Amino acid sequence: MVKTIRQETTLNLRKHRAALLAQLDPPANLLRASYVRHYLTCGKRNCRCRRGFKHGPFYYLVQCLGTGRVRKFLLKTAGQRKKAREGIAAHQNHQRWLAELSEINTELLRRAEL
Ligand SMILES: [Zn+2]
Repeated sequence: MVKTIRQETTLNLRKHRAALLAQLDPPANLLRASYVRHYLTCGKRNCRCRRGFKHGPFYYLVQCLGTGRVRKFLLKTAGQRKKAREGIAAHQNHQRWLAELSEINTELLRRAEL
């Protein structure tokens, strides 16, 4: 929203909220995770990776499971990588819409019109 939420009419806030709710069905593929690219060195003594030509890129899905707990695994296929990117984007959009919905509800509550 470009216009600040406080400047918006109640009717427009309600319309915006209805539009958000219509698209708020949680996407079935959502992933709360990060997509990370790594270049690695191996254990071989004379490998090119020891001279700066690291192996990779390797792509990982990384998930925070709470304080100090992380789940990470290698995305081996192009299909996995595509699904990971799509799922992460779906989750981010969903979070954005939830935040927007919450902002509208807060403003409507402030106006005592929830
Ligand atoms: Zn190597």
